[in-house]
Amino acid sequence: MEALLNKISDSGLDASAVSAQEALAFWENVRQNIASTPQEEAQCLIISSTYNSDLKSLKSSIDELKQALDLLTLPGDAKLILEIKNSIAEKLVESGQYSRALNEYIDSCNIAVEHSFIDEYVFSVLGMGNLCDTYGEHNRALRYYQKIDSIDHAITSRALRLRYKLNKLACYIDLNRLSAGKNLIRECEELSILVSDKILTAQVLLYQAKIHRLERNLDLAMQSLCGIQNASRNANSTWLSNMIRMELACFLSEFNKPHWAKLLLEAADKRIQVSGPPILNLKVCDTLAAVCEQQESYQDALNYQKRAYDAEHLLIKQIPIGELGASQLRRLSRFEPQLKLILSEIENKELKETTENQKHTVEKLQQDVFTDPLTQLHNRRWLEAKLKDLLINEVQFSLMVIDIDHFKSINDELSHLVGDKAIVNVSSELASYFNFHDASCVRFGGEEFLVILENTEIEQAEAHAESFRKQIYNFNWQDILGERGLTISIGITLHKDAENTQRTFYRADKALYRAKANGRNQVCTE
Ligand code: GH3
Ligand code: MG
Ligand code: MG
Repeated sequence: MEALLNKISDSGLDASAVSAQEALAFWENVRQNIASTPQEEAQCLIISSTYNSDLKSLKSSIDELKQALDLLTLPGDAKLILEIKNSIAEKLVESGQYSRALNEYIDSCNIAVEHSFIDEYVFSVLGMGNLCDTYGEHNRALRYYQKIDSIDHAITSRALRLRYKLNKLACYIDLNRLSAGKNLIRECEELSILVSDKILTAQVLLYQAKIHRLERNLDLAMQSLCGIQNASRNANSTWLSNMIRMELACFLSEFNKPHWAKLLLEAADKRIQVSGPPILNLKVCDTLAAVCEQQESYQDALNYQKRAYDAEHLLIKQIPIGELGASQLRRLSRFEPQLKLILSEIENKELKETTENQKHTVEKLQQDVFTDPLTQLHNRRWLEAKLKDLLINEVQFSLMVIDIDHFKSINDELSHLVGDKAIVNVSSELASYFNFHDASCVRFGGEEFLVILENTEIEQAEAHAESFRKQIYNFNWQDILGERGLTISIGITLHKDAENTQRTFYRADKALYRAKANGRNQVCTE
């Protein structure tokens, strides 16, 4: 993609200056006159398809993605092919073409397993479960989502992991399995802090509001609903905004204000009838029918019930639920040994690479290659080599992930330069605290640090983490930050024997987001 962008600017064009309709002509021109490989041509089509999608021309958008697919070949372009297929499937669902969407998901599953792409496999399985959900078969949807449970730790995208957990959560709520829902929502809340996606964060709050309402904790439900306004500001999602309206309407009718609920829903209904997806149409009609019944407007209730029935009938006709039955689930089960193999291959690769590269790395890499220039701590490249070393020598270690709290606001309020100074100070405190043998400090990125404590039990690690947290809390920040202080949150875990380090990271990361969710400035262990 970078090569293509360079070619575009070399020919005097500016991709950032075009928008909407104009962009379609721009990218067609680039495809015909500047792109020189099939992959570059495909990129042009993908970009153009997103403009078409923004212009609500779903059909043209899908057609362009299909054209892009025709330019690509397996195995070399497997990743791009999967991304395109999943995007086609999403657009097909949006336009109500469920059978064709299912075919794309099935196809993607096969390709993803054959070429070892875990995230893309998860995406397709989620899509299948979602179709069952849309049909109203929540138990069956759960059976799809459960297929992901055993590979959860290997999902690399946190946003995708959150989507999978939210889909599961929605099923629990629809099935009124509130205690299972409550267990899961906590995990979703914690994960959403690290994901920073407005729509997903708002979705977490929406489900939180639903659970509170179903448990008749109306004050808490209202709090969650108010939180959504903040979280979803400028988030552009028809589905989300209407789901929020419906939840608010249910809330109002619980408060015996069905006339307000009705006003809210009628406005939503008008919009959905113009361009909303069929499932929203069904949900809004169902909710309106219930509200009218509460108002004793039985004729209106009947009319909405009839419309809900028609919408449901249409969905039932269109969703290929028969093809999402036991045989499709069995097909996914048949992938399980292959998926296990993929996971263990990823794990083995780490070890294999160590053996092959070990000799060269020591000679080849010099000190500065392994050092972060701002803080003089070890960098990620050093970390990779270190972890392989620990694995090969079967060294037991604890892993600490440290993240500065509310760091963005330091940058925003006091400048990036001051932010850098804060990072440097935390780093030097870190280096001087963990200056003993068998401890290593790494700047993992931005304002995140790792500490590896070799041959250290978790209790010892916890004690160190806690005392370092206090040291940072008590540090004299006055000169650098004026009136505001600075705190850190820490997640800790113990590396288990022969475990792949990805899993260790996953646990430490989980502990970190729990520390964040619990209010920050604290240490959590997983
Ligand atoms: P939280 O407590 O939830 O972690 O809040 P936060 O504001 O710290 O959130 P997050 O970790 O997402 O923000 C990290 C910010 O750090 C984002 C980025 O702008 C900033 N950043 C990353 N690298 C650097 C750097 O090298 N210098 C400076 N000054 N800022 C950086
Ligand atoms: Mg932070
Ligand atoms: Mg961070």
